[in-house]
Amino acid sequence: MSAAKPLTLINASSRNVQDILVGRFRRLSGHPKSSLRLEELTQSNRPKSFNDCQMYRFRSSPQSPSSAAGGTRDKELVRGAWRLAVTAPVLVKAGLFRAFDLAFLGLKHHEQTCVAEPQPKMNRFEQRLSADRLKLRRASLQTLQINVGRRCNQACRHCHVDAGPWRTETVSRPVAERIGQWIAEHRPPVVDITGGAPELSESFRFFVECARAGGLRVLDRCNLTIIEEPGYGDLPEYLAAQAVEVVASLPCYTAANVAKQRGNGVFEKSIAALRKLNAVGYGTQLPLHLVYNPVGPRLPGPQAQLEADYKAELGRHFGIVFNRLYTITNQPIARFAQDLRGMGKWDEYVELLTSSFNPSTIDGLMCRTTLSVGWSGEVYDCDFNQMLGMQLRNGKPLFLWDVTPEVLENQAVRTGEHCFACTAGCGSSCTGSLA
Ligand code: SF4
Ligand code: SF4
Repeated sequence: MSAAKPLTLINASSRNVQDILVGRFRRLSGHPKSSLRLEELTQSNRPKSFNDCQMYRFRSSPQSPSSAAGGTRDKELVRGAWRLAVTAPVLVKAGLFRAFDLAFLGLKHHEQTCVAEPQPKMNRFEQRLSADRLKLRRASLQTLQINVGRRCNQACRHCHVDAGPWRTETVSRPVAERIGQWIAEHRPPVVDITGGAPELSESFRFFVECARAGGLRVLDRCNLTIIEEPGYGDLPEYLAAQAVEVVASLPCYTAANVAKQRGNGVFEKSIAALRKLNAVGYGTQLPLHLVYNPVGPRLPGPQAQLEADYKAELGRHFGIVFNRLYTITNQPIARFAQDLRGMGKWDEYVELLTSSFNPSTIDGLMCRTTLSVGWSGEVYDCDFNQMLGMQLRNGKPLFLWDVTPEVLENQAVRTGEHCFACTAGCGSSCTGSLA
């Protein structure tokens, strides 16, 4: 008696759907329960194109009572696989699969291999939302956040962009012009320019002027030290003349902590830059907000208390004034992820984020009202998703000029386990805590 060759079903759907498929296959193929085993394929023996999927192989057992001869069993398996393929539309209709998940269901390579197009499995964040009966969908667009590229004059340890002076990715002029046209046509209330150090982009001033000409609010996510770089000394006057709101990173009011995260000398340059911004009216007539990131794998403390501490310390020691402090949780991605792994703190930090899930943060998550556009015009739900390559899709990768604010409204947000960083504790967004 020869053992039948394995029948492989590749399927990344929920466990329920897998169970339904196993049952259906057994019934249709006439195989008794004992003749099939479900094995999960390991990363090493799954096809490369299905790397992100759970894959299962149905293996028929040699002891199967229905397998008097291998040939008979082969025929049964083939018949069963075809029947399964025929019933797929029924499963789709019943809502067990989304139609595109079954774009390909049939026999492949060998008559005994049945392949179903993978369906992304529910990640832990989605499971958590589902357990609390929460949904994360986009609302009306408030902010277009443009990430102009990865170049930066700094290379901070917590950087979720992996930015640095050696990075070359930057928005080209033709792409910048298409983004400018979209802004003029759709008029998002806020245009938020980030990077890298956004001011290093040759298109930075183009974006500022394009949005301000339309009367839109413009935010510059400034790392402060860029103002101290040769050739950028006029930035405070330029930003003030354009009434750009400045959101500036300063992870602590002490030199030692800033040096730990951003490098030696950064604190001193940041203080010099803040003084120049104050001198042209920032912090008094024009909005100047500071951004705090924890130094190390911790959640930020209460925003109001930290803001009071910052104001007291920066005022007393340096005479600096500012408006609001935004506390932002470090995302366990890119350089901060490497840093966590290097310190052996990855699991601990991820556990901290996961166990600190706060459902009241969901309504205020920035991905509901922000559209993030990358340096080649591709779009994402947020800058973090951008760094993870989670581009918006509608059968194909989407670019800014493929979408309108109306089309995006009510669409599901693409999430991952990194999303726990936005929902931990008081929550975190580009404008600080949420709860
Ligand atoms: S955190 Fe900001 S300032 Fe630091 S390297 Fe990244 S983009 Fe540059
Ligand atoms: S990382 Fe945060 S902002 Fe981005 S999609 Fe997840 S929850 Fe939303």
